[in-house]
Amino acid sequence: MEKIKIAIQKKGRLSEKSLALLAECGIRFEMGMGSLTVQASNFPLEILLLRDDDIPEYVQSGVADLGIVGQNVVYEKADNVQEIKLLGYGKCRFSLAVGKKMQYNSLKDLEGKQIATSYPKILSKFLENNKIEAKIHTISGSVEIAPSIGLADAVCDIVSTGSTLLMNGLKEVETILHSQAVLIANQSLSVEKQLILKKLLFRLEAVQKAKNTKYILLNVPNSKIDEISSILPGMKSPTVMPLQQGGWSSLHSVIDENDFWEIIEKLQIAGAQGILVMPIEKMII
Ligand code: ATP
Ligand code: ZN
Repeated sequence: MEKIKIAIQKKGRLSEKSLALLAECGIRFEMGMGSLTVQASNFPLEILLLRDDDIPEYVQSGVADLGIVGQNVVYEKADNVQEIKLLGYGKCRFSLAVGKKMQYNSLKDLEGKQIATSYPKILSKFLENNKIEAKIHTISGSVEIAPSIGLADAVCDIVSTGSTLLMNGLKEVETILHSQAVLIANQSLSVEKQLILKKLLFRLEAVQKAKNTKYILLNVPNSKIDEISSILPGMKSPTVMPLQQGGWSSLHSVIDENDFWEIIEKLQIAGAQGILVMPIEKMII
């Protein structure tokens, strides 16, 4: 049977979470010491461990069928891959920063300036769209020191908290892109590989839905069942079970993580007691 090859960052910010995500999808594999490919034992999948910068090109050319990589790297390195699914981790932004003392009111202030970055393609598109002419210096690492050593007036780099910028005497002035880890695929997967991808996506979605959802149990007086049920959105109507103690029932339902506190407050006001909230491992709707 054919296998699908997925490229994952070998060592870095996305490695652990990407492997954990595959494991949560029930895919079993053993990481060998230093080996660059890993075979799954219970799913037709092979993992290729690569530098993140190389992943978009490998997927575009078909050496790998799938890849997990930051959107920032996808946009810089490949035009011709499919973005299949945002994965919700590795969140960061790609921003422009200038020296703290530089007067900055708008992008116009960058006209004729020098900007250091590891992402020349994304930056030049951005400048072009905004009709700014600036000189781009492409450097592969430690971009943020460029202004202090006199190489550039501004930098364009990945930021998550902004502390690296501050430490280097820079201030963030524009956000060019919001990025997170994304599952990408080659544009022309064989039919067999498309089927394997579909199975993988089914599992990924079950894991993602479960992460955003909680299972909730609560005790309610029978007279309040209707009122309290209407507060619980649930997949269908809640499950209602009688308690030993007369006049009371237990309601079971699922709620969205985002609405969590608001719903809990409403439930308490409506007279619910003994509220238990539990994580859900997988969710198939
Ligand atoms: P490699 O050795 O594979 O080339 P790298 O050093 O280029 O690794 P990492 O620093 O591990 O890459 O970052 C991988 C990705 O994680 C980034 O491309 C970005 O999408 C995301 N990311 C999230 N937060 C941050 C951050 N604070 N700094 C840099 N990248 C971040
Ligand atoms: Zn890299």
